[in-house]
Amino acid sequence: MDAPAVARQEGIVDAVIAAASRAAVGLTHAALGARLSILIFHRVRAQPDPLFPNEPDARRFERLMRLVGKSFTVLPLGTAVSQIAAGDLPPRSLVITFDDGYRDNAEIALPILARHGLVASFFVTTGFLDGGRMWNDSLIESVRTSPLNELDLGFLGLGRRPLTSLPDRRAAIDTLLARIKYLGPEERNAAVSRVQELCRVRELPGCLMMAAEQVRVLHRAGMEIGAHTVSHPILTALGPHEAEREIAAGRRRLEEIIDAPVDLFAYPNGRPFRDFDQTHVDIVRRLGFRGAVSTAQGVARPGDDVFQLPRFTPWGDPLWKWATQLTLSQTRTRYATTVAS
Ligand SMILES: [Zn+2]
Repeated sequence: MDAPAVARQEGIVDAVIAAASRAAVGLTHAALGARLSILIFHRVRAQPDPLFPNEPDARRFERLMRLVGKSFTVLPLGTAVSQIAAGDLPPRSLVITFDDGYRDNAEIALPILARHGLVASFFVTTGFLDGGRMWNDSLIESVRTSPLNELDLGFLGLGRRPLTSLPDRRAAIDTLLARIKYLGPEERNAAVSRVQELCRVRELPGCLMMAAEQVRVLHRAGMEIGAHTVSHPILTALGPHEAEREIAAGRRRLEEIIDAPVDLFAYPNGRPFRDFDQTHVDIVRRLGFRGAVSTAQGVARPGDDVFQLPRFTPWGDPLWKWATQLTLSQTRTRYATTVAS
């Protein structure tokens, strides 16, 4: 089959999946009442990344957006927050969110969203705009590009790790991310620098995150901009004053950039109890935000706490698996964990 024929066939299959998904979500709504699915994305790469095969590339993201556009009512998060609070959620509600502020959000995801008439909410960490890099990316790119076949991670108590194949490198990255994530900021940065040194990598990419101007472009295109702190700390690792400073300063910087109010927030890393607790929910509410999202897996229902809305990352390839995950998420009888109030 030639490329246009493959694309035609793919279009037909996708339309059938979207129709089935729409019907199934409609039935869920009729049987169980309104639910809100909030999708969470980080990056949309130009090409598939063999190290992270589950992350969408442009082509796959386009198919996902076509599917959600046809089978759901896609809402801005701010609208969904008001509707959850008012107990007035339309059928098939879905919100699209992006965390961290990757450059590909503006360069690749935005044109696709625009093509499908969809709005999304972008939670931007301000400390890495204009050429910065998140610690996890320093680590990933060090291991990805290391010329070595083995890495001695004895200094972290992780022994020697092979780097001979792609799965080896991915395993080393996952182990390192899990080990380093919960260190304090200084210790974490020191560990990342040490790993980079051990990997014998001198230069790391300086163009992964958005420029401030790209945040403005997203805002001007009708996308929502939400706060996600300055330096993406684990809030529970900070004292309450420092946590508040991170949350408030990140918002202030975004408001300067887009010259408009920012009233939605995403907790960094986002797991209830482990990454944020009631102290941070109270801070976010007191600072005048209208709503916040976690990374607790689940769907929201009318009347839920709008300062701890759960999100969901459907997985699976081909598309029907992804659609099934998404549809099934609406039928979950156990809802998201929230911190005690
Ligand atoms: Zn994040």
